[in-house]
Amino acid sequence: MRALRLHGPRDARLEEIPEPELRPGTVKVHVEWAGICGSDLGLYESAPIPADYANPIMGETGPHTLGHEFSGYVTAVAEDVTGVAVGDLVAVQPNFADGTCAECLAGRPNLCDNFAFIGINGWGGGFSDTVVVPADHALVLPAGFSAETAALIEPLAVAWHAVELAGVNQRSTALVVGAGPIGLSLVLALRAHGVETVFVTELSASRKELALRLGADRIIDPREEEVVGAVRAATGGRGVDVAFDASGVGKATLQPAIDALAAAGTAVVVANFHGDVPLDVVPFLTREKVLTGSFAYTAADFREVRDAVVDGRIRPDALISSRVSLTHALDRGIEHLLADGRATEVKILVTPREI
Ligand SMILES: [Zn+2]
Repeated sequence: MRALRLHGPRDARLEEIPEPELRPGTVKVHVEWAGICGSDLGLYESAPIPADYANPIMGETGPHTLGHEFSGYVTAVAEDVTGVAVGDLVAVQPNFADGTCAECLAGRPNLCDNFAFIGINGWGGGFSDTVVVPADHALVLPAGFSAETAALIEPLAVAWHAVELAGVNQRSTALVVGAGPIGLSLVLALRAHGVETVFVTELSASRKELALRLGADRIIDPREEEVVGAVRAATGGRGVDVAFDASGVGKATLQPAIDALAAAGTAVVVANFHGDVPLDVVPFLTREKVLTGSFAYTAADFREVRDAVVDGRIRPDALISSRVSLTHALDRGIEHLLADGRATEVKILVTPREI
């Protein structure tokens, strides 16, 4: 079978490798759709995991197959597996925890000391023909459900976890800084949590339109309006209860997220920052503001998103901007995004089929 494997910085190869074999407790999944994530771009550019390193949970050295946001159809199940059957459409929860470290025992498996992802640390990945995954990480979707939508559950779970961490209710107001794939997923997750008002800051005309279509109440273009003043004016001077930096530019995006908060509000870092950010610390003291990060998701988050896309509380298909074949995952997918594709793309999906 074919797999897009990472050999080093800017060195990913679509290779012929043996098809993985079923082990006890696993199912074999023929990949249908796999999304390209911002973290795939970072992995591709820098290949930060040494080829001879084996994650303690995965137990495999590189090269590893890329792709951790994927769905597919089950083609085989191990004898001891129940609850997943051949022919089922599944979304794969790709992250794993050891279940034994202090964070796991404290109920924070997403922060496991040994956390690992299919598509990053081993056990194959979505940019391939076939993956074998533990059955309890294969979430079954109803017959006839869209395999494209199923591939969006993973990035939505990232946003869902951040919204849960921020603590929202139906009277909450929220600011999302940046309407990229995660920012737009945050809009969907906030709406699914019943949040009353969602502000979004964005520069790109197409993403502004998409944010409105997915449920944002008001778009603020920082070139045209001062973000904090606009948020305060629209909230009776109070500010928002929660804010999310989903762009990771630096002080230019994080400081407004903090300054737009009401007293005791929470700002959440959901983007990957590259470099230090100098911050005014006083508002954390005098207004009891909170700044936290949000990392990945738990099995509960993943299942809640699965349920939300199945019952229609989240309708994420508008996030899909392009579809490419696995044979072009590199040039029309990853390389395209790293060049200038991010200006126009939101989520590119890859399929092993020729399209
Ligand atoms: Zn752990």
